[in-house]
Amino acid sequence: MSAENFLSRRAAAVQSSSTLAIGAEIKRLVADGQDIINLCAGEPDFDTPVAIRQAATRAMAEGQTRYTPVAGLPMLRQAIVAKLQRENELHYEEQQVLVSCGCKHSLYNLFQAVLNPGDEVIIPAPYWTSYPEMVMLAGGQPMIVSSTMAEGFKLTAAQLQQAVSPRTRAVLINSPNNPSGACYSAAELRALAEVLMLHEQVLVISDDIYEHLQWSGGPFRNIVNIEPQLQARTVVCNGVSKAYAMTGWRIGYAAGPAPIIAAMTRIQSHSTSNASAISQAAAIAALEGSQDTVEEFCRTFRQRHDYVYGRLEQMPDVQCRPATGTFYLLPDFQPAMARNGTSDDVAFAQWLLERAGLAVVPGSVFGAQGQQRISFASDTPTLERAMDRLQDALAVRKGRQG
Ligand code: PMP
Ligand code: GLU
Repeated sequence: MSAENFLSRRAAAVQSSSTLAIGAEIKRLVADGQDIINLCAGEPDFDTPVAIRQAATRAMAEGQTRYTPVAGLPMLRQAIVAKLQRENELHYEEQQVLVSCGCKHSLYNLFQAVLNPGDEVIIPAPYWTSYPEMVMLAGGQPMIVSSTMAEGFKLTAAQLQQAVSPRTRAVLINSPNNPSGACYSAAELRALAEVLMLHEQVLVISDDIYEHLQWSGGPFRNIVNIEPQLQARTVVCNGVSKAYAMTGWRIGYAAGPAPIIAAMTRIQSHSTSNASAISQAAAIAALEGSQDTVEEFCRTFRQRHDYVYGRLEQMPDVQCRPATGTFYLLPDFQPAMARNGTSDDVAFAQWLLERAGLAVVPGSVFGAQGQQRISFASDTPTLERAMDRLQDALAVRKGRQG
């Protein structure tokens, strides 16, 4: 019997994370000496601030090297409760918070805790690539609802109303959004909340991981801020990865109704137990220390965004919408692709890699066929060279097509 026959149907069906796989492949090519500019990065290019690293060093020296409670160190859970109150005006008790190994793990636990076979989860596209796979790993059914660039890449109330069925178990809201960089305005969240108020069987999942990286004009607001009545059936997922340049430390958290958090905690108790004790100590320092670097990161991303967006805007065969958060842009290359007789964004990404030495992530990975995700988590000179290469490649392509 072939070893493949031992795989569960779940394991046989799951796709590996394309963002991680593409990123790893590009890093390998660069290490091999290939001249590639990597615009795939799904993480800040900054180092974790020194004070946070020092807190981890101290924790190690003091011997904080044992298991912690499954749900996280009491001090960290208290720091998260305080953060949610201070920054988000959301009140939670400590038992409503679970610390996990990254926000990805928080979401994974959540789907395991709330989905029965066949339960539908509404996922607005463009979406982060792991959502549908995580839903399926929990036996759920992703219901993808697509929004175009013209619609600002955002789910409308009418679309949401149409997508809700008696089998809908949850809806995902990710603002600022990976991969489009779009942020929902208060009015847009209000419209979605009005629909959700009519469907009390629907759990709301608010993935706020990019909350600090936004320049949409006002303070960050999630759907619970807009409609406090939804708090009783919303799980807020967040973490320290993006705001504090701590992707490798693997600390995320979920805050929500106590029975859901308790179920997630039971599940986690049989899988990873607790998140790394040392990383938890670092996360306390991140949440409780000076927030100056967070603001600095955001300012820098915004400047880079303005530069890259400005360059893309001048390229004739590229359509782009400015982002108001994250470190991603999602330009549309369909005019350039059409001229070449292809509608396949994966092939186009490969062409950019081979001809221009430019690595981007094809939109279809995010349910956004025809677009490419450009990450501007690189320094400005790199972004300048990257945009020069892109412009030259598109000009050559145009020339070829006559
Ligand atoms: N949600 C979104 C939208 C993301 O882009 C990411 C980053 N991969 C995550 C969650 C998970 O973040 P973490 O590194 O904390 O697991
Ligand atoms: N969020 C990042 C990305 O979208 C990190 C990789 C991942 O976990 O998917 O590229």
